[in-house]
Amino acid sequence: MDTLPLQLKLTGERCLLVGGGSIAARKLTMLLRAGADVTVVAPQIGDAVAAEVPAERLHRRAFAAADVSGCRLVMAATGDHEVNQAVFDACQQANILINAVDDPELCTVMFPAIVDRSPITVSIGSSGRAPALARIVRSVIERALPPGIGKLAEFLQARRDVIKTVKTDLDARVHFYDDLWASGISRALEAGKLDAAEELFEQGLSSTPNGEVAIVGAGPGDAELLTLKALRYIERADVLLYDNLIGPDVLEFARRDAEKIYVGKRKRSLQTQQDRIHELMVEHARAGRRVVRLKGGDPFIFGRGGEEVDVLREAGIAYTVVPAVTAAIGCAAYAGIPLTHRDAAQSVRFVTGHRKEDRINLDWPELALPNQTLVLYMARGGLREICGELISHGRDADTPAAVIENGTRPDQRVLKATLSTLPDLVEATEFTGPTITIVGEVVALAP
Ligand code: SAH
Repeated sequence: MDTLPLQLKLTGERCLLVGGGSIAARKLTMLLRAGADVTVVAPQIGDAVAAEVPAERLHRRAFAAADVSGCRLVMAATGDHEVNQAVFDACQQANILINAVDDPELCTVMFPAIVDRSPITVSIGSSGRAPALARIVRSVIERALPPGIGKLAEFLQARRDVIKTVKTDLDARVHFYDDLWASGISRALEAGKLDAAEELFEQGLSSTPNGEVAIVGAGPGDAELLTLKALRYIERADVLLYDNLIGPDVLEFARRDAEKIYVGKRKRSLQTQQDRIHELMVEHARAGRRVVRLKGGDPFIFGRGGEEVDVLREAGIAYTVVPAVTAAIGCAAYAGIPLTHRDAAQSVRFVTGHRKEDRINLDWPELALPNQTLVLYMARGGLREICGELISHGRDADTPAAVIENGTRPDQRVLKATLSTLPDLVEATEFTGPTITIVGEVVALAP
């Protein structure tokens, strides 16, 4: 962090604005909105500035160092580097905060882009490096914040003590605020329906938190492929259980104070680890927490999501399953492979290449039929066997085939070959991430 964002109280404080043009006018509006007592100094003062400031506070002359004395904050909006420099020097001498517009070198404070839903304000800074970008971020935030949020802040401020007395535990308070937010209370306040808002508030206050588990698909890697629903569950989770397939940028969306538990299958045996996941889900949900079990891709595609649901159902715990982009869909799209195509493939099959009791038990004659695309999950180890079986059951040895590693992520890699050449290529390659295999004429259609 190059600068520390703070919120400055300026009510009744003396401030100096050097400059009288249109940019000065914009800064003046902000200072006045914050209640500052502003004096303006500039040889020429435009109408926009003059209209807002009492005549005795307007000085139509050049800046003098003594002007800064007694000020809390000084703004230089002159467009003249030399004048800005003189203002800066005077302020440094007197230890006064100074902001020179478009002159980041001559600033001890930066003016952020502001979203004003008072008393809620959001300031977006770029430490003077990319103000244009800060303005874009502002418009994103503007759209995300309902207009009634300022009223909600006032409504809640008046009820803070009650909330603290009833919701003594921190998690309970967080849940209460989350639920209240989701209840649409800010819309009610915006529409002036105070009774409705009061009712929603009372309902939230009297409800006791129930633990719940969301089995959330996080997609194949690229965090932008998360669904809105997945994002909502991740953001409000108290506890997140995640494994190897979950990228760090997905976890970034979780609350800072949420507990993030790694339950990957790197160290323990598959079954021990699956049992541990079941235990953790049940234990945390029973303690009233919001648990998110994050799964790579879609929870119900080769993800043991079904077993997790059985456990929750048996334990009588409320649960939701949030579907997602599965690896086949994500990897194919990012590799430019259409999984079906009018001429080349009329169906697509998601197949596991996982060995069970040392064999890959698949219906080879059916999988070897032409005009279909096969997407093979967990197939790297058994690739030679799979390709061999497909060829010996009649699939053309020249059928295009590809292996995609780290699909949808920045380090995605695509290896293209044919059914007969793919096993050698894969054995000669080192992999660090998950891979998926696509077999079918459609692979040749990728650029
Ligand atoms: N539920 C997941 C699949 C879990 S099985 C889903 O719907 O995608 C794990 C297998 O998925 C891996 O062995 C690999 O074959 C595949 N996989 C998951 N993410 C992948 C990625 N980003 N790139 C390539 N393969 C991936």
